[in-house]
Amino acid sequence: MKSAISDLSVLVTDDSLTQRQYAKELCQDLGVSSLYDAANGVDALEVLDANSVDVILIDLEMPIMDGVELIRSIAQKKLNSSVIILSAKDPILIASVGTMAEADGLHVIGTFQKPLLADVLQCSLLRFIQDSKVSAEPKKANDNEVTALELSEALANRDLTLAFQPKLTTQGLLLRGVEALARWRHPTKGMISPAVFIELAERHGMIDALTHYLLEEAFKHKRSWQQYGLRFHLAFNLSPLSLADADLVDWLCKMANDYGIAPAEVTFEVTENALLGELASAIRTLARLRLKGFHIAIDDYGTGFANAQQLSRVPATELKIDRSLVHSAAVRPQQKTILASTVDLAKNLKLTTVAEGVETEEDYKILLDLGVDLVQGYYFAKPMFPDDLLAWVKTGLSQLRKQQEHK
Ligand code: C2E
Ligand code: CA
Ligand code: CA
Repeated sequence: MKSAISDLSVLVTDDSLTQRQYAKELCQDLGVSSLYDAANGVDALEVLDANSVDVILIDLEMPIMDGVELIRSIAQKKLNSSVIILSAKDPILIASVGTMAEADGLHVIGTFQKPLLADVLQCSLLRFIQDSKVSAEPKKANDNEVTALELSEALANRDLTLAFQPKLTTQGLLLRGVEALARWRHPTKGMISPAVFIELAERHGMIDALTHYLLEEAFKHKRSWQQYGLRFHLAFNLSPLSLADADLVDWLCKMANDYGIAPAEVTFEVTENALLGELASAIRTLARLRLKGFHIAIDDYGTGFANAQQLSRVPATELKIDRSLVHSAAVRPQQKTILASTVDLAKNLKLTTVAEGVETEEDYKILLDLGVDLVQGYYFAKPMFPDDLLAWVKTGLSQLRKQQEHK
């Protein structure tokens, strides 16, 4: 794993000698250890065949093989390099090439208009290093690595647990709530990502059993926090499939009552795409939950295709803006408009705005500027098991506030 810019190897691709020298000097000043250069796409591919390169700077306009063709070849070769796309052309064009590269499966660190500035390059390289560290989170096992049978055993053996990630107010960094995130500690295969096993449960008819188990766990934790006098909110993810379950609302009300939990302190998160399928039954369930006093968040907003009108029909109280939108505003300044208009839309619909996946100070600054209400992400706190969460509430949170005051 790369832990500093000095560990990185970078390839600068640009047909202009002056630009190439300039970019190389920026890299050298930042301490990049292995530096290569190429004057066109063909030369760049030769360098890539012979060396392992972490980051490729690609100028779009080049004779012989231009940047767009080069991106395609890199994607076809399935190289493990990330790219920064540069051009003197207009920002929208550069951004659209970035989108194309991502669709081809490349990791795009950023897309920028030339000239490349030193601090932009530095932020991009630091972000690249941070992104490669994120894979220390629960591993995405291949689907065939865990089976539905193992999952049902895990449920029976109570191998599933919850981690909780803080949601903080931008005003004063107060702890508004925590989001419960499912974790499966497999006896031999380690931590399995919920992205894998939730889908497995959905495909094998186990999602209701899983949801019931996890919700009771979450309520037990909330009850014990309340006993310590801690009254932050609980956010819980609901599978789109659960929304079609006609008995869900009554069951949730009964559970809240049994565990002494106020519905007003619970938010159910449903993904934007859940609203596109069985819309009528989803809305019925959500409306009933609202009537009972629970809050509803639209999750992962910006990744799906819900439009403003669909959004306005959902009885939601909160809009969670997906990490991809949050992140792209910092690395692609022209995307900030999209983020800003999403925040505006949410505010017009009187929804609480939450930015998720906030990883850097840059991300956070943009969100502060836009007046987002709540933030969640590694920059503030990672998901934590309950003991760690309590320790963080006691000491970590005030440390975080002090750090921010000094910024
Ligand atoms: P989600 O609801 O969007 O949850 C946020 C995910 O982003 C979590 O991944 C969290 O660990 C991760 N995350 C938080 N901050 C950052 C950050 O700064 N950067 C990055 N890169 N990631 C960050 P996790 O825990 O792996 O969960 C993945 C998804 O699995 C969740 O996405 C949610 O859709 C689903 N999921 C998790 N727990 C449950 C559950 O109990 N029930 C259901 N139905 N789905 C769940
Ligand atoms: Ca969520
Ligand atoms: Ca989300």
